[in-house]
Amino acid sequence: TTEETVNCKEKIKQLPKDIYYLLKTAGEVGDYLDKKVFVVGGFVRDLLLGKENLDIDLVIEGDGLLFANELHSRLGGNLIEHKEFGTACIELENGNTLDVVTSRREYYEYPAALPVVERSSIWNDLFRRDFTINCMAIQVNKDSFGRLIDYFGGLEDMRHKKIRVLYNLSFIEDPTRILRALRFASRLGFRIEDETNNFIEEAIKDGMIGKVSVDRIREEILLLLDDRYLDKNILSLLNHYNIFQALHPQLIVTDIKINKVKDIQKSIEVFSTFYKEKVNKKLIVIMELLDDLPIDEIFQVINKFVPHKSSILNIQATLEEKEHTYKILDTEDLDRYTLYNTLHKHSMEGLIFYYNNCTNGYIRHYITYYMVNLRNIKASISGKDLVDLNIKPGPTYKIIFDAILKAKVLGEIYDRRDEINYAYRLYEEIKGGRDGV
Ligand code: ATP
Repeated sequence: TTEETVNCKEKIKQLPKDIYYLLKTAGEVGDYLDKKVFVVGGFVRDLLLGKENLDIDLVIEGDGLLFANELHSRLGGNLIEHKEFGTACIELENGNTLDVVTSRREYYEYPAALPVVERSSIWNDLFRRDFTINCMAIQVNKDSFGRLIDYFGGLEDMRHKKIRVLYNLSFIEDPTRILRALRFASRLGFRIEDETNNFIEEAIKDGMIGKVSVDRIREEILLLLDDRYLDKNILSLLNHYNIFQALHPQLIVTDIKINKVKDIQKSIEVFSTFYKEKVNKKLIVIMELLDDLPIDEIFQVINKFVPHKSSILNIQATLEEKEHTYKILDTEDLDRYTLYNTLHKHSMEGLIFYYNNCTNGYIRHYITYYMVNLRNIKASISGKDLVDLNIKPGPTYKIIFDAILKAKVLGEIYDRRDEINYAYRLYEEIKGGRDGV
């Protein structure tokens, strides 16, 4: 390992003023405490790539908490200490976050007659990280401000656009790195270096994906389904490494499916002027991915994709009802009320999925018609209006509201006055019916 001494001072000076100031201040605090301070990891990678990164990870050779407290007293913001880990986080008002960790010196005993080697503590910190491009540090103390520390050839790999692990057991030690490798390759347009590729394939063959906890898999999967990666063909990459099959043997992502996922954005935009709520695109992506699985199998994998009960139910209900819904909509002359009843119970994500998932003209036409004309139909009168009509509260209210809705959907009544008249007439009929018995 060699220590590259590329000076990043100029690059740091071109950063937004507040970030430059922040790094300078961190260096001053280090000088004040007589400790070395480094900015490390993703921030350094993105600085060298010319990309913005608001998350600053600082490594201090010494007492991290003491350092964080001193830095916080100079910068302000919100200080969160994790005393048991010796780490801290400062959330600044401008949206930047600063994470502070302590690095430790360690001793490595080499076999045979070689002497015990002491590694500098920044070396130890960097050696624990995942890929060479993420294993660089920049010192920020005044005298060495901007000095790049690159023990593992990160800069060289960055120049050749390569994702490379530091050692062969890396993916066995932490299989989430497999997904991280694909994520960085996709996002940066880098290639997974040949040896690293072999390590990944071996780890997958050894079933390492199955050893990752559900929570961590989900965290990574949800990141991967973000637009930043989706736009760059992450699904093909996941497919290439059989990641989906590692999650569930029957989960096969065909090219047809990948194309459907690509269409989702367009389908969202088709209707975007007709609804106000925020649509969770990731849910629609997951619906497409899980679509071909048998219903009871979906239940087995769904928690590897989404955490919340409500999202799980949303996806399940949509997929469970798909065939039934398509069957009803696949007809030439469907009446408005059947259409309303069929689609009304579905979430916006479910409706967009139904539209996106099929190419059948009738079905698409009916979903569009529902979105544009029926979805927002509501009764404009309330319970209070029924009270004003001297209708006694009780089960009759629901009967009346359902009937009003139906009449509105069928276009038989239009405005508030129609509704009041209609409610009154209906009430009289119900009452008459009852009195007649
Ligand atoms: P992003 O821009 O996606 O946040 P990042 O590199 O900052 O990228 P983080 O997940 O925040 O990503 O990780 C910060 C740093 O911590 C990484 O650059 C890497 O050095 C290290 N790291 C994160 N996860 C792992 C892991 N599983 N194994 C080893 N090192 C890791």
